[in-house]
Amino acid sequence: MKITFYGAAQTTTGSMHFVEANGKRILLDCGLYQGHRKEAFEKNRNLPVDPKTIDYVILSHAHIDHSGNLPQLVRQGFRGRVFARQSTTDLCDIMLRDSCFLQKRDLDYINKKRKKEGKHPFEPLYDEHDIDALMQLFVPTHMHEPREISLVITLEFFNAGHILFSALVQLDIHSDHGHNHRLLFSGDLGQPNQPIIRHYEYPAGADILLVESTYADKFHPSADDVELRLERYIKYIDRHNSKLLIPAFSVGRTQQIIYYLNKLKEKNKVPREVKVFIDSPLSQKATMIYAAHREVYNDEARQMVAEGKDPLTFPGMVFVGTPEESMALNDMPGPMIIIAASGMCEGGRVLHHLKHCVRDEDNIILICGFQAENTLGRRIVEKRTPLRIFGEEVELKAKVEIINALSAHADRQGLTDWINEVKDNVRHAFAVHGEPEKVAAMAELLKEHGVRNVAAPMPGQTFRFD
Ligand SMILES: [Zn+2]
Ligand SMILES: [Zn+2]
Repeated sequence: MKITFYGAAQTTTGSMHFVEANGKRILLDCGLYQGHRKEAFEKNRNLPVDPKTIDYVILSHAHIDHSGNLPQLVRQGFRGRVFARQSTTDLCDIMLRDSCFLQKRDLDYINKKRKKEGKHPFEPLYDEHDIDALMQLFVPTHMHEPREISLVITLEFFNAGHILFSALVQLDIHSDHGHNHRLLFSGDLGQPNQPIIRHYEYPAGADILLVESTYADKFHPSADDVELRLERYIKYIDRHNSKLLIPAFSVGRTQQIIYYLNKLKEKNKVPREVKVFIDSPLSQKATMIYAAHREVYNDEARQMVAEGKDPLTFPGMVFVGTPEESMALNDMPGPMIIIAASGMCEGGRVLHHLKHCVRDEDNIILICGFQAENTLGRRIVEKRTPLRIFGEEVELKAKVEIINALSAHADRQGLTDWINEVKDNVRHAFAVHGEPEKVAAMAELLKEHGVRNVAAPMPGQTFRFD
């Protein structure tokens, strides 16, 4: 058996680990690499394995950095099966179509420029037909139900506590020579005690461990003051008739923020004149999918539902429909809260809101998600003015506030707790899904906890197991 680490190796995006066992070729995740446009495009297009030869893809969760290159895999000939939880399939359907739409819009803009410069146009990575074909290949797989994906390989999903329906992947691989392995892949491991989301689980007995490292060297601040801070920002924009702009991932972060605003609304902490706009068709669809699966909520959220309350909506909350309605918000007077995607400000409607909001010092840009290197979101966090938005330089004068406590990724403490519970049989551990210093920190952490063979694999590095 061998594993080659193709994506999310020494970086956070493009999650893709290639397992070869007993003649089967399996991809754990098939995510989109994000970063510098040209570099990202090349990496995403040039798949490291011939898709025609892949038997299965096992998908930990629907986030684009884990699922976003699946249609490309199909476009280049993959006809195997994709194992994922049913609701992950539903989320993928809407997220991949959105990703496709954003790519096309982005390329239309770039190609116009390239045409003027006499250069050949860029092709999108995939189109709607590829997504249609991909959706036929999904095999809905339930939590806690071992599934024989081949005679010698059994898959089981457990809660990863990251976003709704996110899963830990456990593979039992039996070999003719009696060398059996149990592989456990964390996917993205969630921060405990998030709103709505259940706590991650601790599947036992793995001897090979792949663990994410996004925040391996950091402790998140407590989320206890998130409500209070949101309340303070709302008071501020109410006083200044200004805007609170929250770039947020459509899946996960947006629903968390709605949940907090809902709580504040219940306590009469959101004045009636403060309008709340969820400005992303994808966020709206994702919120609907979340709302349709209350059975997987955590205890607190289920308690709210039992009391007849809806944790994901409140009076005065508006989903913005068309692009024209979205643009109209630019000229609408505050106070208002706009929650818009994308979370790292790399595309989507948040861009035109940013362009209008960042110049005004009365506005607040609230960053409450992970911002990868080389993204506009990261430049905002680092307050690197001027910002470049739609090819134009814009002075950053608005206040930038950062809430790290809302992370959907476990911090060093969360990771340590998880490792402590799953490590007993682990013989080989790999730190993935983190920038170089994070995977190094995770490798150290694993060693401190007694795991002997630890690596932070380089992209393309292969490891063999007897
Ligand atoms: Zn994720
Ligand atoms: Zn991820």
